Amino acid sequence: MPSYQEIVALEQKYLLNTYARYPVAFSRGKGVYLFDVEGKRYLDFLSGLGVNALGHAHPRIVKVIREQAARVIHLSNLYYNEYQGLLGEKLCQKSGLDRAFFTNSGTEAVEGALKLVRAFGHATGGPQKMIVIALENSFHGRTMGALALTAQEKYRKGFDPMLEGVRFVPRNDIAALRSAMDGTVCGVMLEPIQGEGGIFETSPQFLRACREVVDEHQAALVFDEIQCGMGRTGRLFAFEHFGVTPDVVCIAKPMAAGFPMGAFLSKDWLAQHITPGRHGTTFGGGPLACRIALEYLAILEDENLLEQVRRVGGYLTHKLQELVGKFSVATEARGVGMIQALQLTIPGKPILEGAMADGLLFNITQDTVARFLPPFLLEEKHVDAGIRILKRHLGVVQKAAKTTKVAVANQPTL
Ligand code: PLP
Repeated sequence: MPSYQEIVALEQKYLLNTYARYPVAFSRGKGVYLFDVEGKRYLDFLSGLGVNALGHAHPRIVKVIREQAARVIHLSNLYYNEYQGLLGEKLCQKSGLDRAFFTNSGTEAVEGALKLVRAFGHATGGPQKMIVIALENSFHGRTMGALALTAQEKYRKGFDPMLEGVRFVPRNDIAALRSAMDGTVCGVMLEPIQGEGGIFETSPQFLRACREVVDEHQAALVFDEIQCGMGRTGRLFAFEHFGVTPDVVCIAKPMAAGFPMGAFLSKDWLAQHITPGRHGTTFGGGPLACRIALEYLAILEDENLLEQVRRVGGYLTHKLQELVGKFSVATEARGVGMIQALQLTIPGKPILEGAMADGLLFNITQDTVARFLPPFLLEEKHVDAGIRILKRHLGVVQKAAKTTKVAVANQPTL
């Protein structure tokens, strides 16, 4: 096996310089643990940015990949395959929506949903019915359509001009939503829980208001559940918590247990605006991806994992709240189930680096938010182990922050 240094040197020479990677190279995983090339074990509280909900090397996923790879991996969408319809049926039954389109990533699901609401707008209100409302602090992906719906400047900067026809309103601001809404709006797109934005929930009142104004103006309501969906909140769809059903939901991340896959699901009245030739993909919905996704859904049920997400997620919330009570640098615990965060008053990088050295993985978003997206297999004992490490490093940075303050206060004034 190549060493860590060899792996890094090769990447630095040959790869596009897109990622500021953490200084570790992993070679394998098992359950809630990852192992680096030197054999060191890490407790995985991030699961590949919310993807590995079944942890690593789940035996049923390994078996299904082996079996299906030996039969057929890819066919293209020129032909039928035995699993795409079955997966569509399952997801539609579980979501209350009617039709599915399969993609290879979250961003592609967003792009497809965007095309769908635009196609609907054009067909029902003419070319001027093309405005899409999105939320401030949103993240929907990095391709030009998804980026245009992503409000955060750091992702957009330097890529102008953006796609036209997007209006942003603040999260949970019903008055702003109402005033942004008119007959030219074809869709409202939002994350029920903003992920990259720092784990911020939209309120049930706001979601209900979205449903109302969208209906009043003959537009479509689109939820991006790419990060918060597919079980992460303890329900298969996050919208189940809020009692508001969207017209379209975008899903991805864990849906094929680590194999790249996304989808958007749509109500029939909307879906009919995409007809043969108007949208498509070479890879999306292949037999291997669909079969793994079916296995993923079956495992969630067979292992009662949504119940586990709710139970262990509740325990994690409680433990994060205890940290808020104990450390002044931690001001708020947010989120639910296996999508949670700790708001810090200081940049989180030193805490992350210290925790990683002690064998705990999570990430920092928005500079000061420690984000946790653990596998659904997480148990209370893993939470305890992770919290012990977090506590240690919160203590270290808090002490350092206090010392710096005292040192600054004690500096002689001129
Ligand atoms: N939408 C949301 C809410 C996301 O969190 C992400 C990725 O983090 C995306 C869209 C983009 O998905 P992908 O990276 O799979 O293209």
